This record gives sequence, structure tokens and C-alpha cells, in this order.
Amino acid sequence: MTRTAATDTHCPYCALQCGMRLDRARPGEVLERPEFPVNRGALCAKGRTAPALLARGVRLDGPLLRDAPGGPLRAASWPEALDRVAAGLARTRAEHGPDAVGVFGGGGLTNEKAYLLGKFARVVLGTANIDYNGRFCMSSAAAAHRRAFGLDRGLPFPLADVPHTGCLVLVGANPAETMPPAVRYLRELRENGGRLIVVDPRRTRTAELADLHLQPRPGGDLALALGLLHLVIADGLVDEEFVERRTTGFDAARASAMAHWPDRVERITGVPEHQLREAARMFGEASTAIVLTARGAEQHSKGTDTVGAWIDLCLATGNCGRPYAGYGCLTGQGNGQGGREHGQKADQLPGYRSIEDPAARRHVAAVWGVDPDNLPGPGRSAYELLDGLGQPGGVRALLLAGSNPAVSAPDAGHVSQRLRALDLLVVADLVLSETARLADVVLPVTQWAEEDGTTTNLEGRVILRRRALDPPEGVRSELWVLRELAARLGVVEGFPAEAEAVFEELRRASAGGDADYAGIDYARIAAEDGVFWPCPTPEHPGTPRLFLDRFATPDGRARFAAVTHRPAAEEPCEEYPLYLTTGRVLAQYQSGAQTRRVAELNAAAPGPYVELHPGLAARLGIADGRPVAVTSRRGRAVAPARISGAIRPDTVFMPFHWAGAGRANSLTNPALDPVSRMPEFKLCAVRVEAVDA
Ligand code: SF4
Repeated sequence: MTRTAATDTHCPYCALQCGMRLDRARPGEVLERPEFPVNRGALCAKGRTAPALLARGVRLDGPLLRDAPGGPLRAASWPEALDRVAAGLARTRAEHGPDAVGVFGGGGLTNEKAYLLGKFARVVLGTANIDYNGRFCMSSAAAAHRRAFGLDRGLPFPLADVPHTGCLVLVGANPAETMPPAVRYLRELRENGGRLIVVDPRRTRTAELADLHLQPRPGGDLALALGLLHLVIADGLVDEEFVERRTTGFDAARASAMAHWPDRVERITGVPEHQLREAARMFGEASTAIVLTARGAEQHSKGTDTVGAWIDLCLATGNCGRPYAGYGCLTGQGNGQGGREHGQKADQLPGYRSIEDPAARRHVAAVWGVDPDNLPGPGRSAYELLDGLGQPGGVRALLLAGSNPAVSAPDAGHVSQRLRALDLLVVADLVLSETARLADVVLPVTQWAEEDGTTTNLEGRVILRRRALDPPEGVRSELWVLRELAARLGVVEGFPAEAEAVFEELRRASAGGDADYAGIDYARIAAEDGVFWPCPTPEHPGTPRLFLDRFATPDGRARFAAVTHRPAAEEPCEEYPLYLTTGRVLAQYQSGAQTRRVAELNAAAPGPYVELHPGLAARLGIADGRPVAVTSRRGRAVAPARISGAIRPDTVFMPFHWAGAGRANSLTNPALDPVSRMPEFKLCAVRVEAVDA
């Protein structure tokens, strides 16, 4: 590849995948790339400071090994580290069977890495047990999307549609902190005369921008959506023609919604009836309307049904399958979309194919050159896989890439114990994360600026990160690691270390699947600044807007979910009288493994805190800035109080980016959604008390 001085690439963090430019002559600096349409040059502090992690001393620069349990990690050569990993995986397989070996991936891995990780698990290890941290991200939205539309793409339309809708509802989404360059779309919406409704238990920076802020109790989003559907029906705002022509199942959905009358919904959610009526009118009378959910609505044991209820509201009002209207999910992780399309999810094969579909198995097996009968079936979902580590019948040797569950998993204290119980833990990461510190072998890997690869942003736009800088001598890409491990385990072909070669195979594996990338190649992505899937042939223009003519169901019609409200897995009680909800702050990202190492970001967001209402603080005798303990049935966290009128008096909030005493996920509840297997991160019952410093 010929390299010019400045190279076009994308931010390593969130799903907006902002375009940026790097110059080999100025490796510590990020340059704007105003022509990239999604962010038009704007970057948040995380993207602007991303090169800080390229520096030596911050990141890993050679493999590490632990010689004995409890002993220290020491430097090792690549051959020694890889030999240890291969021998450990082979031994576990031989002694306990292939499903005793597990793989845990990440929503930040490129499409090529996610694809090859899935192939490695199924072809080389022969294990069913591969899943990834994206299960903790958008899996409820994905499940609801598939149930309603027959296809899951986070946004079925480009972000550029948002300013042109009549009414936008953001549910449990705070883009002003999580993806600030996207706020431009909200401002343009308001300038165009569109209305913005924000649903959030906290008055966030995004809620400050809204025409109407609904502030339900945590866990109230499902009842709220049903209450709005009730009012839309009662006010005669149903688009009968659309419902008749393009949907099925409305009668059952209507019956369910009619059982959620306004004063009942006010009692469940705490949102006053007059606000419900105002929201229903704004939404139902708008020329077009969009609902976007994020983790606040989705990370619940009823997340799939909650998203289903919001989709039902869109369908009833005819706000799907036409421009400037529809339901979408604001995906979180950088490649949360692509990461779930190409085979690192327990139930999926590349191209968003079901691993249980015989035709899908035959297609992928032919590309991989294996017998379809030898492909494993579906394995355990992310939390179930972690919960079973080291247990009878569970995984005993785990290869983990691009994830930090010791901080980011629910009930993280328990998950850390399970990680310690493994016979072999191998972590591939660019920094010594809290999970890497528990590992027997740590493999240092390249980062975004040092490698080629594609990701798929929250719009379904496949984009290209180009290698702009050279990695340190002791660092390798995950693709190279997988090739070396496969060879040591007896598979010498089919694991190229070059990203473009992997993508070419991915194209063939995805061909004919829901997420069809067959018509996309690196040159085309670079020339067009991204291509929207499905794109089945090189001549196909790509698909920025889905469902305009038909939905992806067998009969082409969208399906109403017809769901009903139910309580959370854990509601407040005498012993644990408050709700805890968790989330992100502007200057940190996910488990913080990367952003906590960036001085500018740490200065802006130096540590955890417990946000609570002034009335609650006064009742509990808690002063601003003083330490408080938050206790749930699973654990305890201690952090300074931050007193704020922006939160409900019955709820406390903790950001989840930190390890140690302030680890929010010491408290969270791993109760799972029955469809998506999403844990209930966003709600558990706690008690709060002042403690000594
Ligand atoms: S909004 Fe997301 S993609 Fe854009 S710079 Fe910030 S973290 Fe990176």
C-alpha cells in the first residue's frame, strides 16, 4: 500500500465512528476531516485525544506470562507466549471437550477481527461458546428489530434524516455526552421546526435541549410507550391505511395498549398525565416521527419488549418504512453493529445468519472448507458464559479480546471471581486492563491507527480505517495472533493476517445473508466514504434506507409486538429502598480501560461519583462531595456524593467507567432479558448511606 503523509481513518471509540485524519509527521495529533458526512470534522474530547494511547509506557509493548497462579506477570517472547496459549487450549479441549474452551470478543473489534474470531472458535477450537460484550450493548434493540422487521440494522436510515423529521423521541439516550458531534442533528431538527422529546430519569445535557422532557422511574419506559400508544389510539391518530397495508398483529397490540390507560401509566412511571397527553399529541400529529432508543431503554430484563412497545407506537402512526420516519437504536460501541453481524455472537454466523439455519450453515461451511455437520450449534450468551467460568460444565480456558468484563460485566465482583477460577485466561488487549491483570497470558495488540480494517457505524455504513502509523516492535494484530494460534493447533490455512484478505473472505461468507457485504470492497469504501449494507453486488448502490417497499419478514409486513408492562427483576423494598441507574460521562468511555489512561480526559472526569437529589441527600444526611456507600444485594461501592436537582428523588446514578471501590458494576443485577439475554444494567435496588472518608 502506498502511504501519503496524511491518512484518512476513524475514531477508535463510539459507534458514530467520526472521520479523522492522521499525519505520520505529527503522530500525537488528530486532524479534522470535514468532508466525512457523519461528523463533518467535529470530534469530541475522546476522539481528539485518542493518540495519547499510542505512546510507549501507556500501552503494552510485549507479551506477558504468569508462571504460577498468584505469581507475577513477566515479560515473554511471542513464540513462548503463543506456545503456552496453544498448549493450554489443546489440553483443555482434550481433557474436557471443545465446549470447555471459550472465546469472548468485543464490540470494538473490526469486522475482520470479529469474523476471524468466530471462524477460529468454530473451525479451530470447535467450541459453541463464543460471545462478546456487544451482548451487553444493543442486543435487546437487535432482538426487537428482528421480531418487528425481520432484520436488525441499528438505524434503518442515515443520521442525516433526523433533522428532517417532524418529531424525534430519544428514549434513554444521552448523545450530548456519549456522542457530542451528533448533537448537531438535534440542533438542525429544532431549526427546521421539528420537536424533540427526551425520555430519561435524569435531566441530562440532552434533555436540556428538548421541547419536552419526560422523567419516568427507571424501568418505566415500557409502560410509557404503551401509555402513549393508548392515547394515540384514543385520539384517533392511528394511520389505519398503513396498519392495514403494511403490518400484522395490530388488534392484539391495541388490546394491550388499551389496558395502559393514562392514570395507570402515571402511577407506574411517575410521569404526569398531562405530559403523557402532550407527548402523544406531539408524536401522533407530526408529519413524520422517529424514535431512537439507547441503553437506558434497552438494558433491562424487559429490554426487548420495551423496544417492541416503542416500535408498536411507530407502526401504529405509520412512522416506519418511509423517509424521515422510523425506529432506530443508537448503537454504543465503535463496531457494535458490525461486531454482531459476522459471527462472534453465540447464535450467529457471518452475514447475520442464524447458526441454527441448515442453509446458512451449508453456505458458511462451504466458504470455510469444512463439513457443515462439524460446525457447533449456539453457545452460551455473554453473561451466562462468564457466570459458568471454571464451573462444572462451563468454560475452563478463555481467549478474550477487546473487552474488560472485570469492570464492565454486571455483578462484576462475581465475574472477577469466575475469571480467577479459570485454568487458563488469555487476554489480547492494547493496555493492561483490570481483566488483563487477572490473565495467565497477555498478548499486546495493535490499535486503530496502526492497522487496516473496516467497521460498520450505527447507520449500517461500512467504513474503512487505514493504517497511518507503525506499531511498536513487540505488538501484533489479533489477525496475526489467530493465524499463529491456528497453525499451532493444526490449521495452517484459512487465517490470513492481512485485513483486506480477511474482508474478501467475509464478503463471500456474507453473500446472500441479511447483512450482505458482497458488493463492498476497500477501494469502494474509500472512494464513497462508506457503503451502506445490504450491498449484494459491486453495481448495487448500497441501502441507506431500509424497508421503503417491504419489511424483511416472510410476508413483507412489519409485526406488532403486543407487549405488556411488567416490573423489573428487582424493585425497591424496605431494605434497598432506592433505584440505582448507571451510565456514561462525556470524558470517559465504557470500562475506562483506555480513557482512564489519557491525562486530559482524567482531568475532566477523574473518578466515580454518586448523583443524588438534594431532598434525598438532606433526608440521608449526605453532604456534597462527601463519601457515600451504595449497597445492593450483590455488593457495595463507595464514591463521593454529587448532589443535583437533575435526578429523581427516588433514584441515584453512578457512571460505570471505574474499577476499585467505586465500581458501579459491583452493584448491578445480572437478571437477563428472556429473548436477548441482555442483563439488567440500568436498574437495581440499593440503599445509600454516608460513610467516613
Ligand atoms: S463522538 Fe464517538 S466517534 Fe466521535 S470522536 Fe467522540 S468518541 Fe469518537
